[in-house]
Amino acid sequence: MADYYELLGVSRSASPDEIKKAYRVKARQLHPDANPDDPSAEEKFKEVARAYEVLSDSEARARYDRFGDAGVGGAAGQSDFFSGGGLGDIFDAFFGGGGGFGGSRGPAGPPRGQDLEVVADIAFEQAVFGATLPVNVRTATRCDDCNGSGAGSGTQPVSCSDCNGSGQVQRIRQSLLGQMISSQTCQRCGGFGQVVVTPCAPCGGQGRIVEEKTYQVDVPAGVDTGSTLRLTGRGAVGPRGGSAGDLYVHLRVAPHDRFERDGSDLVSRLAVSMAQASLGTSIEFETLDGTETLVVPPGTQPGRVFTLARRGVPRLQGRGRGDLRVVIDVSVPTKLSNEEATLLRQLAELRGEAVAPAEKGFFSRVKSAFS
Ligand SMILES: [Zn+2]
Ligand SMILES: [Zn+2]
Repeated sequence: MADYYELLGVSRSASPDEIKKAYRVKARQLHPDANPDDPSAEEKFKEVARAYEVLSDSEARARYDRFGDAGVGGAAGQSDFFSGGGLGDIFDAFFGGGGGFGGSRGPAGPPRGQDLEVVADIAFEQAVFGATLPVNVRTATRCDDCNGSGAGSGTQPVSCSDCNGSGQVQRIRQSLLGQMISSQTCQRCGGFGQVVVTPCAPCGGQGRIVEEKTYQVDVPAGVDTGSTLRLTGRGAVGPRGGSAGDLYVHLRVAPHDRFERDGSDLVSRLAVSMAQASLGTSIEFETLDGTETLVVPPGTQPGRVFTLARRGVPRLQGRGRGDLRVVIDVSVPTKLSNEEATLLRQLAELRGEAVAPAEKGFFSRVKSAFS
């Protein structure tokens, strides 16, 4: 999908005025009324209009910068390439269309750089509330010495004489079907349309160098393990001035020792004692948002769930937050002092409950059917 900044021919830091101006020029050039014979102009006009719609709205632009097309509701699948017409028609007749020729590159020009993928680890709370995350990537960036051209200092790439700068050479051969014209990537210039005579030393004529880069990535609240952020134009730059691919950041969320995710809900367990469950209590419970008072009523059973509304995870798509569900565990003491044991026996007696006698060795003498 074409990058909106590229469509308008402006830099990523362009001011609203520059964007407006660029859009006006493009719109005038591509307006369908001005191009009655070019059906691709209308399509391009629509793309440019869409780009302007997003980039002229500061909020939408910010979302696009952070999350790419996903941040602005996506766009219809569009081709980055426009076949040159003419020759394409001949090809369609033989090979049933498909548009473009000689692979996925358009007419002469440097190819787009690769998309990059990285996995980034993120803390549980950062995933819930959002964060700015430094992400390191090994990537190709534009060579400053030649400004991406690949040409040594003081020189310029020259137009390729084999293909006259088109990047493509045509072969005509006779076949049973008559004359066939095929188009191939020019061997001499590799399809660039230009040849570097004196390569730039630091990049060896590539126009790009490999380096480690750290991007500060805005992670929206509510992401989870498996969420992927797309940063348009933050991938590797193409050789010799080619535009940059995209950077995909796959997130991996660290587990939390007290909370678990269940979609947009959080689940936590809270242990209370037998006495607290029986008589009721109020407990200061640490949520991710701070302390809340949880009232445990008398007679609370193990497994009972208390729901704290909107104390869960913000929903990535749409509004609001999930809930926090607190599941009650009732802990039974494993060691009792003599006094505690005596009191519990009294309680059991009062309630007419049979309990094991106090004498020592009782359990080793009784062979249980369940052991
Ligand atoms: Zn260079
Ligand atoms: Zn060439």
